[in-house]
Amino acid sequence: MEINLISDTVTKPTPAMLDVMFKAEVGDDVFKQDPTVNELERYTAEMFGKEAALFFPSGTMANQTAIKLHTQPGDEVICDKWSHIFLYEGGGVAANSGVSCHLVDGDRGKITAEQVKNVINDPEFYHAPTTRLVSLENTTNKGGGACYEFQELQKIKQVCIEHNLKYHLDGARLWNALVAKQQQPKDFGSLFDTISVCLSKGLGAPVGSVLVGNAIDIKKAIRIRKLFGGNMRQSGYLAAAGLYALQNNIERLAQDHQRAKELGKVLASKSWIASVEPVETNIVIFTLHATVDEKQFIEKLKQKSILISSMGQGKLRMVTHMDYRSVMHDYVLDVLNRMQS
Ligand SMILES: *Cc1c(COP(=O)(O)O)cnc(C)c1O
Repeated sequence: MEINLISDTVTKPTPAMLDVMFKAEVGDDVFKQDPTVNELERYTAEMFGKEAALFFPSGTMANQTAIKLHTQPGDEVICDKWSHIFLYEGGGVAANSGVSCHLVDGDRGKITAEQVKNVINDPEFYHAPTTRLVSLENTTNKGGGACYEFQELQKIKQVCIEHNLKYHLDGARLWNALVAKQQQPKDFGSLFDTISVCLSKGLGAPVGSVLVGNAIDIKKAIRIRKLFGGNMRQSGYLAAAGLYALQNNIERLAQDHQRAKELGKVLASKSWIASVEPVETNIVIFTLHATVDEKQFIEKLKQKSILISSMGQGKLRMVTHMDYRSVMHDYVLDVLNRMQS
């Protein structure tokens, strides 16, 4: 039995999910004739109280599409220094949209309205890039699953309105924030111009992300998705998994959060651990004491069939998910408890 805590993307479809995929009614989505994709898009748009939605093969493509549709080459995007769009999308902001990022030094991946206000370029000062878009992440990935306070998101929205900026949310793990903070998707839909959400992280679908927005933006997004080569044909088989995930697997995230908290608690009690970041959702980030070798530690766990990852700079990460079951959790807690170093 291998226990994979490297990411919440490692889940495999359950028999029930495979069953709905197998039975999905499909068509050619490039002609908008796939009823299951159409239903997934309708369902997701409605969830967020948005006019429209578009299914994507990846979260990266959904974010990159949003950035391209909101900007012109030469513009600037405000985001946290740890943003996925900046660090982990292959330099796509520059390559795909010809824009630069104005990085903000946030707290665990979260930035404030005050920080946003302070980095907006004066539109009259033509030497500087035009500030066009604010892109946030919730929950934060490199920030260890931290969640924004809704009030701060509202304040940032106010800054966007005052300075005529677009507002995008990379909500790859927004589901975790909704569950942890008991928030409503429609409230997020009312704030942001566009939101990308992943179906293949905590929710257990094999592939796919959805971008929601108003009808005009999503119409533009279809053209950009085509440009990026992301149009798919009988993708209803994948959309069926996504619909199933949205209808069945959101509430259970609370269990992942509980287990992550328990892992964090055991780690915090160990003398060989230097620090554990606050566990808000399903990600646990911790550092080892200087005397403990990081590579050896990871290897030691691997020999006990527990896979975890390093994030560099001495940070280690564990992510809980659907396929991390109760028996596995008991075993991991036991292994960590017994470890001397
Ligand atoms: C995983 C992730 C994405 C999208 O990743 P893909 O692998 O392209 O689906 C985007 N943003 C964040 C914060 C993520 O964690």
